[in-house]
Amino acid sequence: MSHSAAALYKKATQDAKDHLIQPWPSAGSIGAEARGVLGQGEGIYVHDDRGRKLIDGPAGMWCTNVGHRNAVLADTLREQAMELSYNSPWYTSNEPSAELARRIGAHAPGDLNHVFFTTGGSTAVESALRLAQYYNNVRGLEGKKKFICRDGGYHGSTYLSASLNGSQRSRNWMDFADDMMIRLSCPDPFRRPKGMSLEAFRDQLVKEFADAVAAHGADTIAAFIGEPIMASGGVIVPPEGYFKAIREICTENDILFIADEVVTAFGRLGHVFASEACFDVVPDIITFAKGVTSGYFPLGGMAVSDRLLSTLRNSNHPEAMYAHGLTYSSHPIGCAVALKNLDILEGGLLDHTREITPYFHDKLKRLEELDLVGEVRGMGLMACIECVADRESQNPIRLDTEVGVRIDRHCQELGLLLRPLVHMCVMSPPLVITREQIDTMADILHEGISRTMRDLR
Ligand code: PLP
Repeated sequence: MSHSAAALYKKATQDAKDHLIQPWPSAGSIGAEARGVLGQGEGIYVHDDRGRKLIDGPAGMWCTNVGHRNAVLADTLREQAMELSYNSPWYTSNEPSAELARRIGAHAPGDLNHVFFTTGGSTAVESALRLAQYYNNVRGLEGKKKFICRDGGYHGSTYLSASLNGSQRSRNWMDFADDMMIRLSCPDPFRRPKGMSLEAFRDQLVKEFADAVAAHGADTIAAFIGEPIMASGGVIVPPEGYFKAIREICTENDILFIADEVVTAFGRLGHVFASEACFDVVPDIITFAKGVTSGYFPLGGMAVSDRLLSTLRNSNHPEAMYAHGLTYSSHPIGCAVALKNLDILEGGLLDHTREITPYFHDKLKRLEELDLVGEVRGMGLMACIECVADRESQNPIRLDTEVGVRIDRHCQELGLLLRPLVHMCVMSPPLVITREQIDTMADILHEGISRTMRDLR
């Protein structure tokens, strides 16, 4: 690393420590944390303040799908800023957002032909929840207000979206709109009761859903919201047929089905949207963000069904306002970047992702030969390594061993960034990853986990 780069990193580290409040800090270090600084990115790699070149294993936060330093996206940012850097969405629209809405509508399943743009995933989810309640108010069903969500889910950091979240650790010290939420079990096949078949487990989850609807009354429930694959919860792929059965119950009970595809959309599972392509379900609303611009611009949104919109248009309250909007809704720069990002996905990256997915899982699955690894699971270019203290009983590793953090630390020394989650490590590399790079990633993981096992002896 050059002297000037080292000096810049040092200054950035100090400035961050003195002035920057990082996301998800703890009270003891809020506003005074040194988390390390990243410098230049290139494809699947990032350089850090210690002069290391690291594989960006989690694609930032599930988002750098086309990889770092993509010249087409970088040029587009500049070109659109020079053309029209902003317009007020209150009064006008712009070309990139209109075209992007049309193209997203064409990719979305069923009749989800209309798109509302936001600034990211939390605001997309918040918009969907508020639309669901507003939809019922306009229909004269003011009692239909609650949302069904699940343990292990993650949907954002705004008040309502965060109230859906299922991680106990993040619920301890914050306030939530809990009276609005109906929380069900996590559909985690790895943690199903011992000896239970996957089909029986699915049926149990579906029964729990139906029972909750009956107990609370369909006339109190606005929507179910779920990630097709729980990402931050540990890449949890529910048992086959689970979503289809839930979709049916929702339809029968006039409950909206919201698929939170903030992670799974825009290529992560090899498709623009995963709900129908991977789970055979057509939602009423799909939320998206992250991969829509591959992280080059903060953009998100929701695709909404024609059915829902035409119900609103034909309601008895044409004057009722959906009083919800953002200064940066339909941002022209974000939408222009998203259009080029979509070109890249359509132009071969979706095919590449589908083609390379079996290789990715085959390589990672081999980590199950290590005693610490209870399961390697995933779908598309999403994977999770779940560690266990004891394979027979599948006991999660004791939290005080910080096993995810240990594996992450070793892997960083070896050239790989991970996302550690207590006793799990999550991987979702940029979609441009090659077979050789997957080999390197798997080798590093093997060594990083082996070193962790030695630490714990
Ligand atoms: N929904 C899901 C499924 C997510 O994984 C996330 C973020 O990780 C969000 C919503 C919130 O998105 P954002 O952080 O862009 O607000």
